[in-house]
Amino acid sequence: MATFSVRFLGCKVSQTDAQAVRERLLRDGHTEVPDDGDVAVVNTCCVTHEAVRKSRHAAARAARTHARVYVTGCGANLAADAFAGMPDNVAVIARRSEETPAAVAGDVGAIGCVQAQARLDRIRAFVKIQDGCSFSCNFCVIPLVRGASRSRSADAVLREVERRVAQGHREVVLTGINLGCYRDRPAGYRLPRLIREAGTVPGLARLRLSSIEVNHVNGDLVSALLETPTVSRHLHVPLQSGDDGVLRDMARRYTARGYLRRVAPLRDEFNVTTDVIVGFPTETEAAFRNTLAVVRDAGITKVHVFPYSPRPGTKTAARDPVPADVKKARSASLRAASHEASIARWRAKLGTEDIVLVDRPGRGYGDDYSPWFVDAPVGELVRVRAGAVSEEGILAA
Ligand code: SF4
Repeated sequence: MATFSVRFLGCKVSQTDAQAVRERLLRDGHTEVPDDGDVAVVNTCCVTHEAVRKSRHAAARAARTHARVYVTGCGANLAADAFAGMPDNVAVIARRSEETPAAVAGDVGAIGCVQAQARLDRIRAFVKIQDGCSFSCNFCVIPLVRGASRSRSADAVLREVERRVAQGHREVVLTGINLGCYRDRPAGYRLPRLIREAGTVPGLARLRLSSIEVNHVNGDLVSALLETPTVSRHLHVPLQSGDDGVLRDMARRYTARGYLRRVAPLRDEFNVTTDVIVGFPTETEAAFRNTLAVVRDAGITKVHVFPYSPRPGTKTAARDPVPADVKKARSASLRAASHEASIARWRAKLGTEDIVLVDRPGRGYGDDYSPWFVDAPVGELVRVRAGAVSEEGILAA
């Protein structure tokens, strides 16, 4: 029997993939340990140059304390040479996410006695419904490392949601690279129907989407979100830029006005958050100001800011003309606007109630994914009233 630990870098899909390897190793009879053990699995990220650097660092660190390290995920698939020169105990598994758990487990070896007492995080479960992306944004490396969009069957997704609820998870996050591409054609499902049925699994307290491309925000989706009582009032809709020229150069398939039009029906009910790339090769100062304006006009609160870094194999791989200090200054200004908008949203909630899922000691998230400070046991859903606002969230009265 081997002892192992699994870690991940990057997005919720990376977390879900790491979870799949972990569950497979547990099923094969191996024992999970906090941070050392015989085997380490590092599920890597390649979305930026910095993400690859951190992934390499995590693998090198694991190699010092484990007999064998498996490097998996997007970083392994894009840039196996990024892991060249690693110690001999590091194995790079450049396989699709569906094949990775079996590849790692096959190498570690099956023991065959199921770990019935495996520790599970019972708070929030990430359920992958699709993988890959068939869009081709010019800066994005994801289609190269994860391939075209493909979906799990609705039956498999709904059974997994039921299993997670039975395990005690209070919240389920439907996760994927491009959720709006979800299709189970034989069974007649697209994302809205899947949301309606996943959201009514008995015992589920809260359903959340990891993110949705604005092209997929339409009447059917909005109705499904509004009419399914467990769906949380938060939606992450990547913007990437608010300038039409930059959006065209990114091949993002929408305009700033189109983004605003599609997000408008959500504004009253949902907390809208987003991703923005700062310092794209054709982003001028005026273009950046357009992004700030769309963030404001769309009523977006939290912005995840990604300073542009060229990724190998993409259409913009050879271009990075915006100086690092300009990217830094624009990032800081966007983060400041995001912080201001978040605080304004939290202040507007003073005196009102929300249901918070406590996911760490003293902290949790409300229905709209606003961060709260609460005094309640981890794993509980608690009704609280907003008493004050700090720089980091809402304080329960
Ligand atoms: S929609 Fe664009 S940015 Fe998102 S994963 Fe697909 S190609 Fe990448």
